Amino acid sequence: MEKFACKHLGIDCDFVATGSTKEEVMDKAMAHGSTVHADLMKGMTEVQLAEFAQKLEASIQPI
Ligand SMILES: [Zn+2]
Repeated sequence: MEKFACKHLGIDCDFVATGSTKEEVMDKAMAHGSTVHADLMKGMTEVQLAEFAQKLEASIQPI
């Protein structure tokens, strides 16, 4: 199992996503981010978004 938490990125949010693969966790985290953290993400350029996605992927940990 893999796990992502918003807190891993320093975001003050209790959201945690788990899944059997990193891809599954990424999908859940990006879906969460684009709704709950829309304000945070809408101000980002495409480059910043790509960097954010990389950081997000790197912060996913096996559990
Ligand atoms: Zn969150």
